[in-house]
Amino acid sequence: MNSKEITIEHKYVQGLFDGHPHLAKEMSAAFDQLTTEGQLLDLMTPEGVFIARGYYGRQNKGYGWVLTMEQAEPIDLDFFIEKIKAAEQKRTALSHDPTTNAFRLFNGEGDGIGGLTIDRYADYLLVTWYSEGIYQFKSVIIAAIEAVLTSRGIYEKKRFDQGGKYISDDDFVRGERATFPLVIQENGVAFNVNLNDGPMTGIFLDQREVREKIRTDYSAGRTVLNTFSYTGAFSVYAALGGAEKTTSVDLANRSLPLTIDQFKVNAIDESMHEIRVIDVFNYFDYAVKKAFQFDLVILDPPSFARSKKRVFSVQKDYVKLLEQAIDITATSGVIVASTNYSGFDMRKFKQFIDQAFNKKGSRYKIVETFRQPKDFPFHQQFAESRYLKVVFVEKLS
Ligand code: SAH
Repeated sequence: MNSKEITIEHKYVQGLFDGHPHLAKEMSAAFDQLTTEGQLLDLMTPEGVFIARGYYGRQNKGYGWVLTMEQAEPIDLDFFIEKIKAAEQKRTALSHDPTTNAFRLFNGEGDGIGGLTIDRYADYLLVTWYSEGIYQFKSVIIAAIEAVLTSRGIYEKKRFDQGGKYISDDDFVRGERATFPLVIQENGVAFNVNLNDGPMTGIFLDQREVREKIRTDYSAGRTVLNTFSYTGAFSVYAALGGAEKTTSVDLANRSLPLTIDQFKVNAIDESMHEIRVIDVFNYFDYAVKKAFQFDLVILDPPSFARSKKRVFSVQKDYVKLLEQAIDITATSGVIVASTNYSGFDMRKFKQFIDQAFNKKGSRYKIVETFRQPKDFPFHQQFAESRYLKVVFVEKLS
């Protein structure tokens, strides 16, 4: 494939030489002239020295990703095979774990190719393309996947477009079709997933360690409120950990049957648990009115959400969300505050927590924190890739 030379503004040269992987608008006046998604780019200093080779793929705020810093390295089948092999080798512990067969095999820039992820769901693989640019490499990447990884079948998600919007069609790529729901195992817990029903699969694999912690250390004998519960993954773990009762709250109608199914596939009596299809903010009002006090409150909202009445954004509204959670958390109870928003770091997130408790005149202690598990590696030179922040906060008074 032909590579096009692009001159990088002086200011951004050193960062790229240091290994920064993300291409942004301001780095070169030439980016805006590009029209061919997937175009290979040779990034050059103003003096004409080669810095790195990447590809053009519009994604959120980005214009593409660096693929190699070796001028002599072609971007071909062997390139993709080597990257996928290296990623697989980093995950041998997980692939040999008899209790877990769903995890991330390839994590975008953290594994050397921004815009591409590969997840294992039992015998099936799910490839997510985050731009039309990376999608141009589909046939060679699928060939590399088939050369390195075993699977019965491959599915894909196309999340092109500015906000990573999902493009809907049949997501089956090749191999054998799976029968859905497909039951996967995570820490010995069963989950129904569907790889061919919209942008989400039923489980967010990056919360595996948090779910396990909730089961082993935070559930026995507790009352648990799981907000933005989706398919109830946290509730299932809490129930298995001996929670007295879980309450799952999500405004999507589909969350009710999907959550019931997750309980059933784990032989949990779902009649002991409550599942509410309601806006979390309305539920908070109701819970305050009823003077509910939960021992464990889980907050894991989407970064942005539009409901009939309001727009929720983690950036603007997390403090308020925490304040409402504090009101209905028992003294000595724990709030699990989580966000996958990449626009602020852990320090800022802890400031949100501090602000909320101060505002409520309540004291707290941070008990533990979690970031991405090993199968979701981040890129050292790109802070945004370390997106997951989970803080367990005990309410002291
Ligand atoms: N915590 C979940 C994942 C959350 S996905 C898990 O661990 O699996 C985001 C969910 O938030 C979606 O299911 C969506 O329906 C729900 N949601 C978004 N806005 C909401 C609101 N205002 N009230 C209740 N649920 C909301």
